[in-house]
Amino acid sequence: MSKKVYDEISIKGLEIFAYHGVFPEENKLGQKFIINATLYVETRGAGLTDNLELSVDYGTVCHQIKNFLTTNTYKLLERCAEELATHILISNPLVHEIDLEIEKPCAPIGLSLDTVSVKIHRAWHDVAIALGSNMGDTKRYLDDAVKKIGELKNTTVIKVADYISTKPYGGVEQDDFLNSAMLIRTLYTPNELLDELHRIENEAGRERTIHWGPRTLDLDILLYDDLVMETSELTIPHVEMHLRDFVLKPLAQIAPWLRHPVYGETVDQMLKKTVTYNV
Ligand code: AMP
Repeated sequence: MSKKVYDEISIKGLEIFAYHGVFPEENKLGQKFIINATLYVETRGAGLTDNLELSVDYGTVCHQIKNFLTTNTYKLLERCAEELATHILISNPLVHEIDLEIEKPCAPIGLSLDTVSVKIHRAWHDVAIALGSNMGDTKRYLDDAVKKIGELKNTTVIKVADYISTKPYGGVEQDDFLNSAMLIRTLYTPNELLDELHRIENEAGRERTIHWGPRTLDLDILLYDDLVMETSELTIPHVEMHLRDFVLKPLAQIAPWLRHPVYGETVDQMLKKTVTYNV
């Protein structure tokens, strides 16, 4: 999941008359907004063939921007930018990332200025998730989790590994596990995604009682692009993924080439090093 370098298509100074603002007058009278955007795209295919279908039509994107900003009204430029960036990423699957700046040159602040703006960067993220269950109807818990992850906002399931039966880990006497892994593409941040996974675990009746104990559903974020982060709530890559055969085996089935951003080894290489459990 190493970070790719994309080509850039730029839109500069797109002028739109719209009604965004905190003051009621702004929502009534409207004013000029200037949009600057850089779309991160792979243009190589279009470059070699002259075929627009292999790239992003900047004219279409400009009209999408105009339609979006004139049919929605927001108070904050921050919200305008957030919603518009999402809209462009969702509407144009070949756009992997976007820099988006919205300027408000006539902002009513009672002082003279050239312009004010909010600029954001948003991107699709490639994420690997581990799934596990060892209570009740384990297959149904995993099926439901895959379905609910597929229904998450601004998220697409890329691949789901076969379910495998594994022996429990961590020394607690309990039933065998059913494990799997999946790859998704999402606009969620790591913490937002974790909140959604916790919600799905809770809906499956998950109770956090015994550490490493039985659970209806366990969902872990294994890899998130090539991000390395550690907070009190979240460690990415997952702290023990490189040691866990029951995590690496399903992941190796769908993405053996993914590389651990700290240890530098691929999923396949890490799997070869783990102790083999009874699968
Ligand atoms: P678990 O018992 O495996 O569900 O893990 C419990 C806690 O681990 C969660 O509440 C998370 O806050 C934390 N955690 C840390 N890193 C991760 C990760 N990469 N994916 C999921 N949970 C994590």
